[in-house]
Amino acid sequence: MNDETPICSAKGCRTAAVWVLAWNNPKLHTPERRKTWLACDEHREHLTQFLGMRGFLKDVVALAEWERRAAAGE
Ligand SMILES: [Zn+2]
Repeated sequence: MNDETPICSAKGCRTAAVWVLAWNNPKLHTPERRKTWLACDEHREHLTQFLGMRGFLKDVVALAEWERRAAAGE
């Protein structure tokens, strides 16, 4: 593991992330804006529920797929 390794966003977790949770808070962000959290396998469900309960969650994408999309400019 090195500084380039994306780490899970869950509090206290130092596990390498494998998921990207894209979200938007309509009170703070314009509709097309996307904030992102990173999640390991263990915390994906917890973080998804946290955002989902608040109506913020937009997308859950595998990190590799997210990076592929970013590289493609999608
Ligand atoms: Zn985690």
